[in-house]
Amino acid sequence: MKNPGFDFTEATLDECVAAAKRYAAGGANWHNHMLKPGCLFNPRPGTYALLIENNSSGEMLACFCSAVPVEAAQHIVSLRHGADVTSAPEINDAQGSEPVILARMRELSRDGTDWHHHMMFPDCVLNPRKGEWLITLEAEGTEEILEYTAETEPFDVLRQVEALFFAQETKR
Ligand SMILES: [Zn+2]
Ligand SMILES: [Zn+2]
Repeated sequence: MKNPGFDFTEATLDECVAAAKRYAAGGANWHNHMLKPGCLFNPRPGTYALLIENNSSGEMLACFCSAVPVEAAQHIVSLRHGADVTSAPEINDAQGSEPVILARMRELSRDGTDWHHHMMFPDCVLNPRKGEWLITLEAEGTEEILEYTAETEPFDVLRQVEALFFAQETKR
């Protein structure tokens, strides 16, 4: 399912942050995506893209950039999920009971393989499983996509995903 296609309005990073603040303050049903250059959903492969998706109004803003705008992306994720989301407690590798998708993210990071994820809300336009919560993992250089599905918002998994993601991004 390459480039399924969606409509978007191109915006600057500042405009995306401002929109996220406005949506959060207004109680809109919104979320964001961070697409990497090889992302299946990227309307401009080769660039990074930050998306702000508002499912209340149907708006989709896209900021194309040359790297992950870490600070802005962290801020936006916190606006959506709360400040806790990017400060997950240290995960104990010995736990052994964590979802496969988290173990794989950790492994990719350890190997230095670039990866990114998508947190898809049930009504997300990118979601191939509409109605379900879905987290997907895409790794650079492979078509492999790992999926984690849930019936309710998988916040505990998401916060670990976000912590691993931003740990990877800030190591660059
Ligand atoms: Zn992707
Ligand atoms: Zn979405």
